[in-house]
Amino acid sequence: MENDQIAAVNCPGWPRCAAPICPLTQDDSVWYRDEPICNARKFQLAHVVKLQKALAKYPGSDCFSRYMLQAMCWTSGVTKGLPEYHQNRSAEKQWIKDLKDQRIKTRASAAKKPFPTVKIG
Ligand SMILES: [Zn+2]
Repeated sequence: MENDQIAAVNCPGWPRCAAPICPLTQDDSVWYRDEPICNARKFQLAHVVKLQKALAKYPGSDCFSRYMLQAMCWTSGVTKGLPEYHQNRSAEKQWIKDLKDQRIKTRASAAKKPFPTVKIG
């Protein structure tokens, strides 16, 4: 079934909903921070929708693909997406890799310093 048909059958907002990323589909759609987010009540707790709402609290014109959003665990909203997408799979893959590397680094450094270090001199 085409993505449009899936949404048409299951989304209560279809076709009024102008959100570029529909929580019901699994395509490689992209959402720019200032674009609409699915407002169907039953999807407000969907992972992707929650992240979009957090990101939308901060101004910006960066973009996030569905896969980038799915790779995120959580955001304070300040996370920067890609400046542009242009079907740029390699930039997207790199972004997701950087996100995961950062997560590993954050965990490692949190585990490494049980005591604050004091600089002398
Ligand atoms: Zn929708």
